[in-house]
Amino acid sequence: MTSTTGSSYTSIPNQKYRRSSRRSRQRCNTSDTASPSLSTLGYFQMLPLEIFQTVLNYLSVKDISMLSMVSKTISNHLMNYISTPAGNRRLLLRDFHNLEPPGKGEGSYILEHYKSLVKRCTLLLPTKERLKYIHKVLSGVSCFKLHGCPSPLHCSGLQCYGVFLQILTAGWDELECHRVFNFLWELSNLARKVQTVVSSKPGSAQKLELRIRLYCRSVLLNHWIHRSDSAFWLTRILKPWPMVNQARLLYIIFGPVSSLDGHVVWQRMIEGPTDEASLKGLAEAIKLLYDTEAREWTADDVISLVDELSVVPREWLMENSARLLILSGNNICFTFMASKAVNGRVAELARLMVFLALGIVTKRTAAS
Ligand SMILES: [Zn+2]
Repeated sequence: MTSTTGSSYTSIPNQKYRRSSRRSRQRCNTSDTASPSLSTLGYFQMLPLEIFQTVLNYLSVKDISMLSMVSKTISNHLMNYISTPAGNRRLLLRDFHNLEPPGKGEGSYILEHYKSLVKRCTLLLPTKERLKYIHKVLSGVSCFKLHGCPSPLHCSGLQCYGVFLQILTAGWDELECHRVFNFLWELSNLARKVQTVVSSKPGSAQKLELRIRLYCRSVLLNHWIHRSDSAFWLTRILKPWPMVNQARLLYIIFGPVSSLDGHVVWQRMIEGPTDEASLKGLAEAIKLLYDTEAREWTADDVISLVDELSVVPREWLMENSARLLILSGNNICFTFMASKAVNGRVAELARLMVFLALGIVTKRTAAS
């Protein structure tokens, strides 16, 4: 983009005329005779690109984001500026290790920053281009990536990314959200990674299990206000897999973890009676899928999933299964028992009922 005849600066390129009728009508309607480039770039047209970018160095993120909404041409220039090393250095905040969780204190400041920077500046792009650009810019921040952060348990990068995603996609329809999911899923190569953890021995890829859990929870699941949104995103994660793998994946994302290193504790349901805290995440996820808002799941699907879950990684103690059912609520509990009865698994049903009764009594005693 160098200019002609000997000048040493780079000028902002002119916009070409479009010969569409819409365009010419617009021209006829405007009373002044300004060229189209002037009408979109205004007086900035006179500035060499370097000077324009130097001016931007003095603007706050909020001002840059407001400026980006002036016209498509300006917005393009600003997006280019954000991608330059200078813009990148100045605008991409990277310290996610000394922050409060997003939404509080500095966390909300950093969110506001990224929201202004990326949401407004890309407002005029179609979804696919928009996602590509956002990815290009944000990929410079390692804490936003699945494997990027050396200390993922003490980092709020993925949470910020998740909240940012929620802000970005607010009001988008399901088809567009589906595109966002596919984009993120492909970007982090999650299909292959999930395949690895669900097909290998539980716990043999501990670190990868942890990364997948944190990414799914922090980026894709935690921040939705409406249950229907949570159900939509959890469905996207689970549906592509056969039931056996869905159960395994559910345990990886919502099952109990070690308080020391955050790794999934696979033996918790097998070795002895477990506590409510270890089962709560799983129960909440099951309830979410059983809700009428998760339209893509029938009651049978969910009951089969619960059944499958109770042998991950081996058959659970019956009292832990009973406790999960109690936490999942009456409807799921009764439907689950009915399915055992219909399938003639009478002995299993009888044992389950004993533990359900004991579980309910224990819960009531603890509550009183
Ligand atoms: Zn980090």
